[in-house]
Amino acid sequence: MDYSLAKKYITQHIELFGDELYGMIDDSFISTSRNLDFFQESLDSFKALIENCELCNLSLTRNKFVFGSGDSNADLLLIGEGPGEEEDSKGEPFVGKAGKLLDKILKSIGYTRDDNVFIANIIKCRPPENRNPLPSEVEKCTPYLIKQINLINPKLIVALGKVAGQTLINKNMLIKEMRKKTHHYNNIPLVVTYHPAALLRNPSLKIDVWEDFQYIRDFMKS
Ligand code: URA
Repeated sequence: MDYSLAKKYITQHIELFGDELYGMIDDSFISTSRNLDFFQESLDSFKALIENCELCNLSLTRNKFVFGSGDSNADLLLIGEGPGEEEDSKGEPFVGKAGKLLDKILKSIGYTRDDNVFIANIIKCRPPENRNPLPSEVEKCTPYLIKQINLINPKLIVALGKVAGQTLINKNMLIKEMRKKTHHYNNIPLVVTYHPAALLRNPSLKIDVWEDFQYIRDFMKS
């Protein structure tokens, strides 16, 4: 009998949850109980721990796991939806067209992506054909993001787009309902703005995004 799959699963489970054994392990149990609080080290070692994740089928089609990048002590944490084609091939977030626009937006408020900024995504692996991530994929990946947020402990989180906003606020709201409010995620202030890819599709949103980033700049100075 080939036990290699079971061994792989158990090893991964122990890496993630410690060596406590549970009688019944099903998907809903895992997604509601995954608790990475035991892990107290750096962002780099956390990356090393999770970058070979195989908890969902996106691991079968990804080229690279996109952990996120930037300053591990950043005050400003930007969170997008998930890697696209270029991010998947480079292993870095926001390196395609939308990323170039994001760099320009950051520059307009005096920031660069490696200085006091960290950029991450809700999901770490590219969904095939850039489809929206499935709720089950988001659920499996969210504990990784929560751990990143805890390790970085930013002054402000900016959710870029609907998927990031809805996941972090945990409500099915429209972008226009989420904008212009200061929400909180684990007591950390959180604002929502349009995804840069939406801006590329619809340049008339530029004014709204400009206003949102003026607010972000002022908040960061306060
Ligand atoms: N869009 C995202 O949401 N994230 C990326 O990393 C790239 C494009």
